[in-house]
Amino acid sequence: MSQFSQTQLKEFKTNVAGSVILPDDPQYDEVRQIWNAMIDRRPSMIVRCISAADVVHSLRFIHQHDLSFSIRGGGHNIAGNAVCDAGLMIDLSLMKGVHIDPERQHGFVEPGCTLADFDAAAQAYGLATPLGINSTTGVAGLTLGGGFGWLSRKYGMTIDNLLSMEVITADGQELHASESENADLFWGLRGGGGNFGIVTRFEYQLHPVGPNVLCGLIVFPFDQAKAVITQFARFTETMPDELNVWMITRQAPPLPFLPEEVHGKEIVALAMCYAGDPAEGETHIAPLREFGTAYGEHIGIQPYTDWQQAFDPLLTPGARNYWKTHNFSTLDEGPIDAIIEYASALPSSQCEIFIATIGGQTRRALPEAMAYSNRDANYVLNVHARWETAAEDVHCIAWAREFFARSQPFASSGAYINFLTGDESDRVAFAYGTSYERLAKLKKKFDPANIFRVNQNIRPA
Ligand SMILES: Cc1cc2nc3c(=O)[nH]c(=O)nc-3n(C[C@H](O)[C@H](O)[C@H](O)COP(=O)(O)OP(=O)(O)OC[C@H]3O[C@@H](n4cnc5c(N)ncnc54)[C@H](O)[C@@H]3O)c2cc1C
Repeated sequence: MSQFSQTQLKEFKTNVAGSVILPDDPQYDEVRQIWNAMIDRRPSMIVRCISAADVVHSLRFIHQHDLSFSIRGGGHNIAGNAVCDAGLMIDLSLMKGVHIDPERQHGFVEPGCTLADFDAAAQAYGLATPLGINSTTGVAGLTLGGGFGWLSRKYGMTIDNLLSMEVITADGQELHASESENADLFWGLRGGGGNFGIVTRFEYQLHPVGPNVLCGLIVFPFDQAKAVITQFARFTETMPDELNVWMITRQAPPLPFLPEEVHGKEIVALAMCYAGDPAEGETHIAPLREFGTAYGEHIGIQPYTDWQQAFDPLLTPGARNYWKTHNFSTLDEGPIDAIIEYASALPSSQCEIFIATIGGQTRRALPEAMAYSNRDANYVLNVHARWETAAEDVHCIAWAREFFARSQPFASSGAYINFLTGDESDRVAFAYGTSYERLAKLKKKFDPANIFRVNQNIRPA
């Protein structure tokens, strides 16, 4: 990092409407923290932007002093790229404006918004767009990597609902990107992560959702895992687009609807949401109850925004986390047996293996339509190792890596870029699949010096 004088720093601080945090500032440790406690990096400076102009000033300062930098939205990325060592962290988390246009059903969202911020504003009008399943996740990083959740089978990936973006590119230009303006940049930003610029506003298509939806959980004993997961795999192949069902295997949390003696035991849970008429949904979810003899269930009609927060208590910030991921187009006996083998040997009480079901509308866009190209994926598997102390690191990480290797032969092409860890830069080209070559050319056009490199990096062609 090159030096800058106190005068230059003072001038920069005067230009920025937000705040500039230095390592001796009392807030420094709190502001540099992100969701994954495995990441402990110390930037030389944190700029808490409150406007697009702050971002432009930050980029100018970065260029003037040849600084490396990172971009923070919601700070949830598992790889920890929101924060850098020794460089400048552009912190967008205070930019929380949301404007809903209920007539056109469009949502305009600033990059510091969490899913909870966006959902709350859109649901005030009975509207929503597909987002993820943990409400404290940042809208920005989730969108730029693709984004999927309970509504994705009906309405597609988050990026399928993205209409336009305001972007500040490497040379400091503020561009509007959409299908009709800077269309190549728009193509790249829909999946290409933070490789092409800093997005200061997203515009989404919204859809009528809820406000109450049929949703909930059925929890089965682990000794029924083979039967339950096999039936889950067949059922999800033909279920209607309105319905989404995910499979989670882990130790039972102390959920009030489960008998106390089940808490802490291995379980297989099916989590579901029906994005349509709840009465019709009841008919569609009925077969799930026949997959085995459940320990218990908690299914009902509740506000969509509540369901969007239902998993938050299991995913709080501050724990140590390590993930691995595969895509699957089908789930046959091979991956199911691998899941059961590794879920039988969970290395900590918070580890889990889950299968997020996508398919439906997520498959209907053409692979070449945007940077995210994995349109053949029906399932996204995530092995989520999660634990509390550094002493457990080796054991928990080894478990995740071994399971990843054991299940790899059954995986389909590509991988979800937002689920890659920091040690997987060698999987970036594989993750993008057929889009990678075009992305590398686009990178050369918009960021030839690769200044946006603290990310799942696409190297300029
Ligand atoms: C508990 C948990 C649950 C999750 N569940 C889901 C899920 O259901 N569905 C799903 O799709 N994903 C899910 N994810 C993954 C999530 O999509 C990624 O972690 C995503 O990167 C988070 O975005 P963020 O803004 O919070 O992250 P950050 O760590 O702040 O940002 C990630 C990266 O995105 C880039 N970036 C962020 N903001 C901008 C911007 N404004 N302009 C340019 N680049 C930017 C930067 O390169 C940054 O390093 C989950 C993650 C967690 C931790």
